[in-house]
Amino acid sequence: MRHPKQAKQLVDRFGRSVDYVRISITDRCDFRCVYCMSEEMTFLPREQILSLEEIYLLAKCFTELGVNKIRITGGEPLIRRNAVELLQKIGDLPLLDELVMTTNGSQLTHTASQLKQAHVARLNISLDTLNAEKFKDLTRTGDLDTVLKGIRTAINTGFKRIKINAVILKNRNDDEVVDLVRFALDSGIDISFIEEMPLGVISSHNRAEAYYSSDQIKADLDLHFKLEKISDTTAGPSDYYRIQGSQTKVGFISPHSHNFCSTCNRVRLTAEGRLLLCLGNEHSIDLKAIVRANPNDTEIIKQAIIDAMDLKPEQHEFDLTEQPIIMRHMNSTGG
Ligand code: SAM
Ligand code: SF4
Repeated sequence: MRHPKQAKQLVDRFGRSVDYVRISITDRCDFRCVYCMSEEMTFLPREQILSLEEIYLLAKCFTELGVNKIRITGGEPLIRRNAVELLQKIGDLPLLDELVMTTNGSQLTHTASQLKQAHVARLNISLDTLNAEKFKDLTRTGDLDTVLKGIRTAINTGFKRIKINAVILKNRNDDEVVDLVRFALDSGIDISFIEEMPLGVISSHNRAEAYYSSDQIKADLDLHFKLEKISDTTAGPSDYYRIQGSQTKVGFISPHSHNFCSTCNRVRLTAEGRLLLCLGNEHSIDLKAIVRANPNDTEIIKQAIIDAMDLKPEQHEFDLTEQPIIMRHMNSTGG
């Protein structure tokens, strides 16, 4: 049985309460998605990333400060050795209400049931195209069939909800938005479209030219589906609609066209242990250094987290036409 909820102790200068943490457990990935990574990536040496024990300790500290939702992400979280054991331990934290995960789906055929046992409630699975060649083109190393089998296995495993995440790029996969929604509808799952963010330098395309807005996607979908606006159930950045007569929700995450910072309730822990206060800014503290200097003193660690809230900026400033000011790629940040 869950304990009564811990009081929320993480509040920033703008009165926003932080009760959600996204933890990137690795910067490594078996894919090289064109919007996320450059073709040649250098990954962090093992000693620079948080150990599984350190991640667990920090997750526990966060829950004791009022965080009730944790998302495990990466890189590809499921390629880190013993990721499932870590999820099991975090899923057992008594003050946590919900453990969720974002994955590229490549490992789901053999991990889905273990994830369910580890109390992972919901999965976000990335899928930008249903065309095998395009999938290879966008992920560089991924295999569509493996991911579709992974999605099917996850659906059959019975998670509370499964959501597809799709990043849409003009002239690459914008012609697939209707098919992707139809796939979600037929599978009885949800889908969110994400506007590409300028995180890290990439080589494959010009981000400003590839920009395809949420409004444009919505207009494309309106020609085929009846989308009914629903109130946000997760306090997240998505605008949600339901396809009339179905359970399928369609979300739009629009960092450029619809700023959502005023309701931001989250922070991120990067694979190398930086507590990042905002996805679109560099304000952070080095939690790894604090944990390694005080491995047995959770009070010091928790106080550092509380103090860090003062650094949370009011909003992100993304500009697709400039060179990215955020040099970190999404894989090390934890999307
Ligand atoms: N590897 C997992 C996956 O792909 O789902 C988890 C990590 S990935 C960084 C998390 C999410 O970030 C994915 O849905 C991915 O599509 C999205 N993403 C990556 N780079 C992005 C970018 N530059 N702009 C917007 N979304 C991005
Ligand atoms: Fe890997 Fe996810 Fe980034 Fe694609 S979006 S390269 S799957 S971390």
